[in-house]
Amino acid sequence: MSQADALPTKTDVLVLGAGMAGLCAAITAAEAGADVLLLEKADQPGGSSSYAGGAFTFVGTDLQEAAGMTGDSLEALRNDFLESGQHKNDPALVNVYVEDQLATYEFMRDHGVKFSLGDLGIRSFTRAHLTGTGRAVTAMFEAALKTPRLRYAAKAAATRLHRNAAGRVNRVTVTHGGKSLDIEVSRGVILATGGFSRSRKLLQTYAPELADAVKHGGIANTGDGLVMATALGAGHADLGYVSGSYGGALRNYPEPAGDDDYPPLIFAFAAGAIMVNKNGERFVNEAQSYKVLSGIGMKQPDGLGFQIFDQKVMDGSGADTSVNNFKDALANGYIRTASTIADLARAMNLDPAKVEASVDQYNKDARESGVDSQFGRKVNQNAKGELMTVDVAPYYIAATGNAITSTYGGVTVNPDMVVTDQFGDPIEGLYAVGETAGGFYGALYLSGSALSRSAITGRRAGQRAAASVVRATSLASA
Ligand SMILES: Cc1cc2nc3c(=O)[nH]c(=O)nc-3n(C[C@H](O)[C@H](O)[C@H](O)COP(=O)(O)OP(=O)(O)OC[C@H]3O[C@@H](n4cnc5c(N)ncnc54)[C@H](O)[C@@H]3O)c2cc1C
Repeated sequence: MSQADALPTKTDVLVLGAGMAGLCAAITAAEAGADVLLLEKADQPGGSSSYAGGAFTFVGTDLQEAAGMTGDSLEALRNDFLESGQHKNDPALVNVYVEDQLATYEFMRDHGVKFSLGDLGIRSFTRAHLTGTGRAVTAMFEAALKTPRLRYAAKAAATRLHRNAAGRVNRVTVTHGGKSLDIEVSRGVILATGGFSRSRKLLQTYAPELADAVKHGGIANTGDGLVMATALGAGHADLGYVSGSYGGALRNYPEPAGDDDYPPLIFAFAAGAIMVNKNGERFVNEAQSYKVLSGIGMKQPDGLGFQIFDQKVMDGSGADTSVNNFKDALANGYIRTASTIADLARAMNLDPAKVEASVDQYNKDARESGVDSQFGRKVNQNAKGELMTVDVAPYYIAATGNAITSTYGGVTVNPDMVVTDQFGDPIEGLYAVGETAGGFYGALYLSGSALSRSAITGRRAGQRAAASVVRATSLASA
């Protein structure tokens, strides 16, 4: 692969966006024999895929088999998707995931991604195939660098899509090096531009309650694919279900938040932390998905939840995954520490007596009955099966709120990943993958399945786009 200085003006397949979806699409299309041009708007590849915790959801892998996990099934996976999405997802797209997930795992593994099985303590994560933050997308980018017929350029943003007289998308306007140029595309344009978590304007339209949330995700993820495809009449799916992720960390709280491009997510609540609101009171069973916590957390004063934990939880800090790397978060001012709960509360301008009372009540429940009398929390138990206490100094606290990491809803696609219009008709020559495509998740994202969805859909679109000329040729000769 060459790092294109001057962009070519013709290609078989044009992939827009070099996150997980775009990389899988580009490699697959090139390996299938197409000349591929992969363009990335930012100066580095990776997008949200490089900040993600790194968990992929797969079933039936060699790792699950080696671990003796035989109870899982494709049917269970399909049901989890549909139940999580409250059956508002497109079953045909859920089937795409189910059909292609194992082959996609093997494709990634064979291109250098290293997986290990893990359980992050959140529903469906017994299928979590962990890669660590940024590692999988880095491995796929390195694989792309070695792929013949694949050219790559950064700082190259697509701005407009064009159709020929037959309605097929065959040309794309791109800005690169301060100039605008058009690229002719013979087999297919693949929109892999991610979501719109960095676009205040689109959030204001589709999820106004999240317009002020802590912004995460790829720095250039401003919904360009959604906007460009919409201009051609693309349909929309699931855009009304954009949801936040609870745990977006505020640096040096209660100091005013400064500009912070990449704040971490902190999921200490999944490791045993309790959460109090600005009144110093617990408000939820903390052992739930960050997506569920998002809706509840948003209703608290200023939308804030203060995660409180002790040295036992800090000792379990991971080095590999952004969401549980508590040590780095402490070093970078996102977590504060003190030797007493009262001092911890004072550091955050919370009422020490109220916070102490909340911690004491939780510890009392944990010690005396093992049942959280306030919210019925059941997990994060110690080795004896009891609810874990918060009682080993020093103590830690993180001010966290709703974060917008990913948007999930997007343009409508059919199972070939071809974008469909408002009437359900295909927009020939145009594909959408990863977070640019809607319809997979319905009402709620299934935790830990977005990276894998990006890889699966990218791979499928790469196959279909590369094959489209073959289909055209065989039709002509039929
Ligand atoms: C903090 C965080 C933690 C997460 N943790 C997980 C997790 O553990 N597991 C999981 O499954 N999911 C997780 N997610 C969600 C997941 O990361 C994303 O849904 C997924 O990475 C999206 O992949 P993608 O390839 O569709 O988009 P991205 O990886 O965002 O790539 C899109 C790329 O397109 C580029 N682009 C944008 N516009 C243009 C344009 N006009 N022209 C050219 N290029 C353009 C962007 O710069 C970007 O590089 C997390 C997300 C965040 C932010």
